[in-house]
Amino acid sequence: MEGVTSSHLYRNVIKTVETAGQIVDLNGNALRRLETPRRAITVSVPCRMDDGTVQIFAGYRVQHNQTLGPFKGGLRYHPSVNLSEVAALAALMTYKNSLLGLPLGGAKGGITVDQNSLSKAELENLTRNFTTELVPFIGPDKDIPAPDVGTSAQTMAWMLDTYSKESGYCQTGVVTGKPIEIGGSMGREAATGLGVVFCTMSALEALGRELKDSTIAIQGFGKVGMHAAIEAHKLGAKIVAVSDVSGGIYNPEGLNVPELVEYVEDNKVVNGYPSAKDITNEELLELKVDVLAPCALDGVITSDNADDIQADIIIEGANGPVTNNASEILFKKKKLVVPDILANGGGVIVSYFEWVQDIVWLFWTEEEVRSKLKSVMDPAFKKVWEFSQKEGQDMRTSAMAVSLKRLEQAMKLRGLL
Ligand code: NAD
Repeated sequence: MEGVTSSHLYRNVIKTVETAGQIVDLNGNALRRLETPRRAITVSVPCRMDDGTVQIFAGYRVQHNQTLGPFKGGLRYHPSVNLSEVAALAALMTYKNSLLGLPLGGAKGGITVDQNSLSKAELENLTRNFTTELVPFIGPDKDIPAPDVGTSAQTMAWMLDTYSKESGYCQTGVVTGKPIEIGGSMGREAATGLGVVFCTMSALEALGRELKDSTIAIQGFGKVGMHAAIEAHKLGAKIVAVSDVSGGIYNPEGLNVPELVEYVEDNKVVNGYPSAKDITNEELLELKVDVLAPCALDGVITSDNADDIQADIIIEGANGPVTNNASEILFKKKKLVVPDILANGGGVIVSYFEWVQDIVWLFWTEEEVRSKLKSVMDPAFKKVWEFSQKEGQDMRTSAMAVSLKRLEQAMKLRGLL
């Protein structure tokens, strides 16, 4: 599977799996099964443009592993989407779902496209045609897509409609992250950010501290970062800095988060918010705070700046913000890095809740969703923390080790090894 496994990202995932696999003495057959995805689908997606021409885009769905249940993972619309990146992200979904104890396998998909360059009508046409290509491979019992970078609840609504038309009846469980009116779950929007906060609380508690009055810097003020800021602020933490693509803002006394959210609604970016000092994204990462939560991009903490990170706890709200080399440096400096497959798991947990609600046609209140989310995240953190303490390993290796053991056991029980 040359084209699938060739990227740097895919090789990094394999490296983490191999390192953790050695620690838990993973069965060699299990390792070989997990090193390549089960199925990689590449499709040409026609899109009728507003000028009447038809353009063809490359679309992918990689189904990595379904030992634990139906495939589950997002769909990304971005110019950098390629088969190997999608495959790496699909593999990470397998490990995330296993770690969190969900009855789901791992998948990911996407289209190589700049969604900002398309009109709404073009995006709808592209999404419907992509869905038609995927119909034989997806479904509530097979593979359940969700939004990711460049896709939204509206994208999921078009997918649901196209899939349902092909089936002849309404199939709300085919996608998650859809609007509430057509089977979405309460609490899905804030889920990943809230999960980041639950992990932050657990990490602080593990170090004998508490969230109240802790200082937090957050990179990224989008779906993950903004909700993490809102939830942590509500619980009494001091959000001293946040940033987005426009730069960062800093107030050592703590930002007024509800006021900042209103400012961003009006101005689109955090830059220029009056009650704070402007700083760069790089400066934000190096602030002396209790908790740093990179919630924007991958690869922002590398071997170049790891030595300058002053926060005691780093919570990976984004996927892959701390590189493998930086993780080693931070571990030696006794910094606690909570890895992405644990820290940003709130999104897929509430996606799982949405899927369950769609299957039973019974919907939960927001309070129920939030308390059920905590009841999944807290034990997952505890397992990883206890493994790391017992084995003297960092949290990234420990999270992968816990995840691999569950997968190995499931494969054994199913007679796959
Ligand atoms: P988003 O598009 O809603 O927000 C991204 C934020 O990052 C924005 O504030 C943007 O301005 C900022 N940003 C972009 N480029 C930047 C730069 N160069 N420097 C600093 N900030 C920059 O995306 P999101 O959904 O919040 O996702 C963020 C990360 O979290 C991604 O890695 C994503 O894969 C991951 N993630 C998201 C979810 C979810 O439920 N949304 C779940 C799991 C993981």
